[in-house]
Amino acid sequence: MTPNERRVALAQIAAEVSTCTACRLHEGRTRAVPGEGDSDTEVVFVGEGPGFNEDREGRPFIGRAGGLLERMLGSIGWQREDVFIANVVKCRPPDNRDPEQDEIDACAPFLRRQLEVLDPAVVVTLGRFSMAAFRPGARIGAVHGTTAPVDPASGAADALTFSMYHPAYALRSPAVERESYEDMAKVPVVLLRSRERRAVAGAAAPMITMTTTPAAAALAAPAPVAAPVIASMSAADQAADDASQLTLF
Ligand code: SF4
Repeated sequence: MTPNERRVALAQIAAEVSTCTACRLHEGRTRAVPGEGDSDTEVVFVGEGPGFNEDREGRPFIGRAGGLLERMLGSIGWQREDVFIANVVKCRPPDNRDPEQDEIDACAPFLRRQLEVLDPAVVVTLGRFSMAAFRPGARIGAVHGTTAPVDPASGAADALTFSMYHPAYALRSPAVERESYEDMAKVPVVLLRSRERRAVAGAAAPMITMTTTPAAAALAAPAPVAAPVIASMSAADQAADDASQLTLF
């Protein structure tokens, strides 16, 4: 898929989201929030659902939680424009209640299609509902700051997922906010490891697949030695030196 094809495909999904009536959440929305960001990115952040400000503006993470997300991204030298930001449900649940399972299920095809188009190397989940979409049965208190392979059925064909607390939760506790900054500091490491996995998978493939994504451009360089999937903080720390020079693109 060319960059222009990706932009067109994402715009098509956004247009469908804006008029969707597949679940009850459309009844109370002001604007649907399909997601936004760099269509050529390697990293997708997935939150839970729009809040008050997002519902009014039709954009994800623009309130206080969005401010914290931007500060955390800034702490690793990234901007929100460098990544793609989406949610599990695209319309605001009433009174900011948790999304219900049938609402998540109804909205899941949109996120799956977005991931199919973006083909990210890393999916960073923000909060327990988005984590559950990629790591069923996991507890966020136990797995935040760690990563796991993504099931290709999610739409992301070859990616690692990295779990973080939701920024809105982090705003309620200085300790959680501090942990969230520490978790965010590992995201470049996870990107590096995912690039390595994808390079190995590409080298093992029987046919060369041409692609124009920036991730593919990075993979054109000789692949480093295959690394195990990062499953713990200590593994991430081992790669910290490598990642200190890592930029997103
Ligand atoms: S939350 Fe998703 S499935 Fe439900 S109405 Fe909005 S876009 Fe459609």
